[in-house]
Amino acid sequence: MSFESYVKRQKELYYKNPKRCLNCNEIIPFEERNKKKFCNSSCAASYNNTHRETKSKETRDKVSKSLKESHSREVLSNGEIIKITRIQASILYYKNKIDFDTIKKFFPELIRICTICKKEFVMKVLDEKMCRYSL
Ligand SMILES: [Zn+2]
Ligand SMILES: [Zn+2]
Repeated sequence: MSFESYVKRQKELYYKNPKRCLNCNEIIPFEERNKKKFCNSSCAASYNNTHRETKSKETRDKVSKSLKESHSREVLSNGEIIKITRIQASILYYKNKIDFDTIKKFFPELIRICTICKKEFVMKVLDEKMCRYSL
């Protein structure tokens, strides 16, 4: 078998089950099958973009989920270690059982800047925008 016919045979075999563009499913030419995953650079770009977006969206979902979950944390307050959830921390703060610095240290996500007086305050309900002094 000559080299030419060998290549021709390989080519025929290749097109029976060709490599396809990962983005648009276009067949990648036999000659480029080893160096390409996409039919052109715009397909490569859009494929990489969508995949990057998916990944960052997953991370975002994970973050927002972990914020919603109220696992209890070990908090050092007045020399005592207590296990409380975020909601409990907020309640205890408003009952003057925990001080502001403790909240800031262990539940920093509860700290908001008041839109009226621009001072930091502890959220009592989720997404509170103003401290109670400004109400
Ligand atoms: Zn393509
Ligand atoms: Zn305020």
